[in-house]
Amino acid sequence: MKLHIIGCGDAFGNGGRNQSGYLVEAADRLFLMDCGPTTLLGMKKAGFDPRRLDVVFLSHLHGDHFGGLPFFFISYLHESARSDPFQIAGPPGTEEKVVELYRVMYGGDIPPIRFYTLHPDRSEVIAGIQVLPFRVPHQLHAVSLGLRFSYEGKQILFSGDSAWTDDFLTHARGADLFLCECSYYDRHSTNHLAYKILQGHLTDLECRQLVLTHLGEEMLRLRGQLGVVCAEDGMVIEF
Ligand SMILES: [Zn+2]
Ligand SMILES: [Zn+2]
Repeated sequence: MKLHIIGCGDAFGNGGRNQSGYLVEAADRLFLMDCGPTTLLGMKKAGFDPRRLDVVFLSHLHGDHFGGLPFFFISYLHESARSDPFQIAGPPGTEEKVVELYRVMYGGDIPPIRFYTLHPDRSEVIAGIQVLPFRVPHQLHAVSLGLRFSYEGKQILFSGDSAWTDDFLTHARGADLFLCECSYYDRHSTNHLAYKILQGHLTDLECRQLVLTHLGEEMLRLRGQLGVVCAEDGMVIEF
């Protein structure tokens, strides 16, 4: 299985990186974890036909993580029609917010979409992919999720945007890949992870590979000195 880093940037355009979009390619499945505004262009740059996308899983409803969906909709309507409905799974409120965003940006027809609501600690199978969502500390008044995927014997843990939670230790156990946000180096934050906090847990993380993403300015500057793998746009990780 492969993880294509379509976009590993934060909300502020730091490092000139695309915003969140992570494409998982299995033998017979193609799915996205998050869909920031630059995801369609990043997918095309990586050589993928957007019609191949089976499902998009959203960790939370911040613009840098779901704001790219309307571009897929207009692409399916006017350029690359799909033969099956587009599938989108996300936290409570996903359908309302996605439809509202599309109305503001383009309005008019929306292509056929099947929406799924992900509830914390309720495992689902969507497009044959098992996903276990769990709540993470990021938003106060809305649900932000970490997502643990299982498909064809491989396990991926995606933190979404989040401060540290010991739930990462539980869900990283046995995972082939843990894609973990790390916005800050040593800034105290209750909604994003700082490397200094993560560092104290590194030896307890029982995953096979750890990749840091969503890096802010200071992390971008220091990433070469930390001895951990940090995502870059265009990077392909096999696991
Ligand atoms: Zn973000
Ligand atoms: Zn966020």
